[in-house]
Amino acid sequence: MLVADSIHKTYRKHRVAVPVLTGLSLSVHPGEFLSLVGASGSGKSTFLHLLGCLDVPDTGSVTLDGRRIDALTGRDRDALRNRTFGYVFQFYHLLPELSALDNVLMPAYVSSSVLGWFRNRKEWRLRGEELLDRVGLLARRRHKPREMSGGEMQRAAVARALLMKPRFLLADEPTGNLDAETGDSIVQLLKSLNRDDKVTVVMVTHNQEIARGTDRVVRMVGGKVADDRAAPFHPRLLTAVG
Ligand code: ADP
Ligand code: MG
Repeated sequence: MLVADSIHKTYRKHRVAVPVLTGLSLSVHPGEFLSLVGASGSGKSTFLHLLGCLDVPDTGSVTLDGRRIDALTGRDRDALRNRTFGYVFQFYHLLPELSALDNVLMPAYVSSSVLGWFRNRKEWRLRGEELLDRVGLLARRRHKPREMSGGEMQRAAVARALLMKPRFLLADEPTGNLDAETGDSIVQLLKSLNRDDKVTVVMVTHNQEIARGTDRVVRMVGGKVADDRAAPFHPRLLTAVG
């Protein structure tokens, strides 16, 4: 269970303080597909970054299975970012000079020693190819991002996010740069990963229709949770523990 409790976060620059999160509390349940909605600037990205240890709150806590993770440093924080969370962003953030497969393998490169990498690279390669197959991109494994469409780049980014078998997939407007049909196929992919691979998904989206198709919709207003609408009874939530 991933729990954010009474989170406050204010950005300060040149004596201007921008309060963004003002006492936000939210629990992410194992196995669920949660959508985070709210106006532009309401702090959705800020909150997602705090949940995934990419940034730290001013006050409040983030705990994972009861353990504080909001202010970890060094190795613990790197390990958590690398292994527990997978991240997907609106603009894919693929490295332009690398093939789809090498992009997918990046999390393994960065977390391995040189020796470790050489020892295990065949297995990593197999896993990377398996994941590219899973997202429908195996035939494109040697292609660079500029040779792929937006939807294909996002599929590669999803495969990269899954390489280290994370428990949580944090997706920040993953369909924000895609046409409706392509965006929908990405959401279907995330849903199948949630359902079949038991990855817990937290997705920020602007799209009401997309949000409605997920297990729970949380609306952020004024730096807090305004509206937390769960399906009253969701059988899958009772059984899925990921
Ligand atoms: P959302 O994702 O809901 O659009 P964000 O979390 O990106 O919202 O941003 C919330 C607010 O915080 C906005 O007003 C934005 O301008 C401000 N903000 C975000 N990041 C920074 C930063 N690094 N420095 C200063 N202000 C920021
Ligand atoms: Mg945002």
